[in-house]
Amino acid sequence: MTEALDQVRDFLNTWEVPNDTRVPVDHLEALVSTPERWARAFPDLPRAARADLADLRALRADLRAVLGHTHPVGLGDRLARHDLVVTLREPPHEPAVLIRPARPSAAGDLLAAAVNAVAAGRWHRLKACPDCQWVFYDTSRNASRTWCAMTPGGPAGRGCGGIAKTRAYRARSRTR
Ligand SMILES: [Zn+2]
Repeated sequence: MTEALDQVRDFLNTWEVPNDTRVPVDHLEALVSTPERWARAFPDLPRAARADLADLRALRADLRAVLGHTHPVGLGDRLARHDLVVTLREPPHEPAVLIRPARPSAAGDLLAAAVNAVAAGRWHRLKACPDCQWVFYDTSRNASRTWCAMTPGGPAGRGCGGIAKTRAYRARSRTR
């Protein structure tokens, strides 16, 4: 995963469902209200202000809606509204073609990072866990992972895949 895609993943996880409460929490307002927190969370992104909050929330929803897709055509409307430019880079920079916002902005940089990942055939590896909605980058060879890596013994204490498997087992037991 590139650093830019790293930031996209962290941005998408500004909305999360904590394991202890299971009540969704949105950290975005606190982040845009506190420049130091924003800079710590997203060191490579331009600063976002409170005025950007609604647009960033909408971007987050749009990106979450196309997680795991190899052809995220749902981003088309948003792309039409953003000024993105294509730049060709000198070696040894990779990739040779890079999409950037015409004017740097948090939303523009995040959208460009997503589109660069689509172009590189990597976007579909960014997925939301079906249980806890946590966004993770699937590094498995066939991009076949479904669940987040959090285990019951881990710091977040989740056991997402395990819960689904138990449910499936119970459902099968009931039908028998
Ligand atoms: Zn999970």
